Amino acid sequence: MASKILYNGDRNVAGKWIPELNRAIAAKGVDAEIVTTSTEPEAIKYIVHSPRGDVSDFSPFTGLVAVFGLWAGVEEIVGNPTLKVPLSKMVDSSLTEGMVEYVVAHVLRIHLGTDFHVLNQDGVWRRDQTLPPFLARQRTVLILGLGALGTACLKALSILNFQVSGWSRTPKTIDGASTYSGADGLDRALARADFVVLLLPSTADTRNVLDSRRFALMKKGASIINPGRGTLIEDAALLDSLDNGRLASATLDVFWEEPLPPSHRYWSHPKVTVTPHIASETRPETASLSIAENVRRAESGEELLHLVDRIRGY
Ligand code: NDP
Repeated sequence: MASKILYNGDRNVAGKWIPELNRAIAAKGVDAEIVTTSTEPEAIKYIVHSPRGDVSDFSPFTGLVAVFGLWAGVEEIVGNPTLKVPLSKMVDSSLTEGMVEYVVAHVLRIHLGTDFHVLNQDGVWRRDQTLPPFLARQRTVLILGLGALGTACLKALSILNFQVSGWSRTPKTIDGASTYSGADGLDRALARADFVVLLLPSTADTRNVLDSRRFALMKKGASIINPGRGTLIEDAALLDSLDNGRLASATLDVFWEEPLPPSHRYWSHPKVTVTPHIASETRPETASLSIAENVRRAESGEELLHLVDRIRGY
């Protein structure tokens, strides 16, 4: 009998996901079918899950073997006490591509000072003759988080000649990059960076990782770009650092509260660029391949890919 996989993602896009998931699973030669309702929860072996799905109580699913997350961020499910089976997070080639494009675009936008000219189309020829502008090789980008997304962004920026550095929980070696770990490592790395890109997960350990003490350590005139999670930044400290001139700009895609309330100071702050959590998206055509590989592994008793450590929270 075919193994049953419950699609528990956003119902509005189920029509895009289900054919792709079925196709990818069939291509793996696995006898499994996607269902969209859980009238017999004990018959469900796997759940493809996003926080936009209807199911958040996993206790009726007594035959459940694994849950496959559709999102890279797992903070909304990782602490769920009814989830007793392995959980994987999404690693998707298109999600990575999209994030690389977002991060490279915003680093280049700030590096080149593009906004100044785009926002001042008023007939005044503002050509700064005093200095040749910086080249990428004279600027250091620090990526906080060297996972699937952070590492890909670091490599893309390195190809553009930026000096690249990265910070992660465990020490890493990456050709051509300076790497740091630990609290002291972060302090040292921040002091050298012109751009800081946050691609950390939202966990108890990463909450407010950039606070007033750390903003004060940063280079004067540095910029931050946060497509990671809003909880990584202490908002009041960031606003102070922008107001007191320590930081030149902040580009923020994610927030403590989403949608960002219309009255929030970020919307009107001249040094802040807000994007509405659009840095990157999971695409069904490619992400289904990742899910199907984990279904195949689970069915043949192999270790799952991209497993979440429930204690660490990512
Ligand atoms: P991964 O789980 O692959 O990588 C996480 C990285 O963060 C790892 O390098 C890890 O270190 C590091 N890390 C975790 N905790 C700490 C800590 N306490 N101190 C230092 N480093 C730490 O995640 P992804 O790269 O796939 O995704 C990163 C985040 O991006 C997601 O969690 C999500 O929040 C966000 N995201 C945002 C999107 C958007 O559209 N805005 C889209 C997709 C994701 P180590 O390697 O040592 O384990």
